[in-house]
Amino acid sequence: MRERIYLSQPQICGREMEYINKAFSTNNLTLFGDNVEEFEATMSEYLDGRRTLAVSSGTAALHLALRYAGVGPGETVLCSSLTFAASCNPVKYLGGNLVFIDSDRETWNMSSEALRRALCWADEQKKTIRAAVIVDLYGRPAAYNLLLPLLKERNIAVIEDAAEAVGSFYHGKKCGTFGDYAALSFNSNKLITTGGGGMVVSEDAAAIEKMRYWSTQAKEPLPYYQHEDYGYQYRMSNILAGIGCAQVPLIQKYADRRREIYRRYQDAFMGYPVEMMPQLSDENPNCWLSVLQLKDKKHDALKLIAFLEEQNIETRMVWKPMHLQPVYRNCPYFTAAEEDISAELFQRGICLPSASVMTEQEQDFVIAKVKEFFK
Ligand SMILES: *Cc1c(COP(=O)(O)O)cnc(C)c1O
Repeated sequence: MRERIYLSQPQICGREMEYINKAFSTNNLTLFGDNVEEFEATMSEYLDGRRTLAVSSGTAALHLALRYAGVGPGETVLCSSLTFAASCNPVKYLGGNLVFIDSDRETWNMSSEALRRALCWADEQKKTIRAAVIVDLYGRPAAYNLLLPLLKERNIAVIEDAAEAVGSFYHGKKCGTFGDYAALSFNSNKLITTGGGGMVVSEDAAAIEKMRYWSTQAKEPLPYYQHEDYGYQYRMSNILAGIGCAQVPLIQKYADRRREIYRRYQDAFMGYPVEMMPQLSDENPNCWLSVLQLKDKKHDALKLIAFLEEQNIETRMVWKPMHLQPVYRNCPYFTAAEEDISAELFQRGICLPSASVMTEQEQDFVIAKVKEFFK
C-alpha cells in the first residue's frame, strides 16, 4: 500500500536536538530553564513585543486566560460554535455558562450579526457577559474590526483562540495580538510544534505574571511552601521549549508552504463541484488546513472521506459545531438569521492533507483521487 498521506504532521527543521542537548548537558530538565526563557522571548519578539507565557497546552493557556478574565461559577461566556472543544471546555472547568455564536458565511468565524443578537438577548435577560472566546478557524482571522467594538463597548474581555493561527495576519497585524489575551497551541498537528504545548499572549505584563504564578502551583516566594491561592501544574518543560526555540524562525516559511498547498488545491479544483475555504482581501491566513466545501447537496462528505481513506489519505470533516455536541446541547445558540451556517459548513466541509512536509507528488495524488471521486 502507498505510504499514508497525513492531514497535518509536524516538520522538524534540524536544530531541535541542539536545544534538547543543551538542556541535557546542563542537566536542566526542569520547568524553569534557558529554553523556556528563550522560547518566550523569541515568541514575544515575533508577536511585536507582546508578553508571553509558555504552558503545557493551548487548552491550559485558555484556562488561565479565562480565569484571569474573571470567569467563575455562573458567569456567562460567549464562544464561536464552529471550533474544537478545547476552545470552550475550560469555561466548564471554571463553572461558567456557555453561549455559542454562529459563523459568518464569508469568514467562517464568529458572525458579528449573530453576536449582536446574543448581546441583545443578554441585555433583555439582564445577564452580564464576562468574556468572549473568538476563534481564528483553520488559521483564518476572525473579523476583528466588526467584533471588537461590540465587545469593548460592554467591557467584555476578549480571548483570541489563535491555536490554529500562528503565522496569520489580519489587516497586516499578526494573529495572537487581537483581544486582551490570546492562546496559541504548539501541539504536534499545528503550524509549529513543541510536541505539545501552548502559550498565553497579552499586552498586560501584570496579567501574564499572575498567570505565570498560577501555572506553577501558586507558590509564594518564601523558603517553605505557602499557598495563598490555588494553581496548576501548567508550565512548559525545558525540553519541549527547546523544540519550540528551533521552530520559531520557521513560522513564515512553514506558513508560506501551506499557502502554496492551498493555492495548488484551489487551481486544481477549478471546474469541479467544490469550493475551497474563501480568503478575503483583508486577511493573510497561514492556511493551516486547506478546507474544501462540497457545493452540490448530492455529494456526501463522509463518502469522500471514506473514498480517500481507501487510498490511505487522511482527511477530516470540519469541526462539528459545539451547539450540536451532546455535552453542550443545553447552551443557548445565536445565529444571524434563519440559516444555521456553522451546521452547514460542518456538513459539507472536508479538511485536506495540508502538512508543510507533504511533497508535490503526494498532493498531486490527493488531487487526482478527489477528482476521481467526482467522475
Ligand atoms: C488545537 C486547538 C486548541 C487546543 O490546543 P492544545 O494545545 O491541543 O491544548 C484550542 N483551540 C483550537 C481551535 C485548536 O485547534
